[in-house]
Amino acid sequence: MILRLFLLAALAWIAWRLFQQFQRGQLQRPPQQEQFEPMAPCQKCGTYLPAKALSRDGRCGRCGE
Ligand SMILES: [Zn+2]
Repeated sequence: MILRLFLLAALAWIAWRLFQQFQRGQLQRPPQQEQFEPMAPCQKCGTYLPAKALSRDGRCGRCGE
């Protein structure tokens, strides 16, 4: 009887630990990003690229040089 109680407590502890890990994992997950990257045209050749790929003056890698 006492053994069963101990087993139950151990199970509850494991479940609690898993729950804590699960919560921490959710907190550590980076915020949901947008499904698509914002696209922007190159100022010179007009090719659409991810906005991040354009240089500061709005040109693609080929035209930026
Ligand atoms: Zn370009």
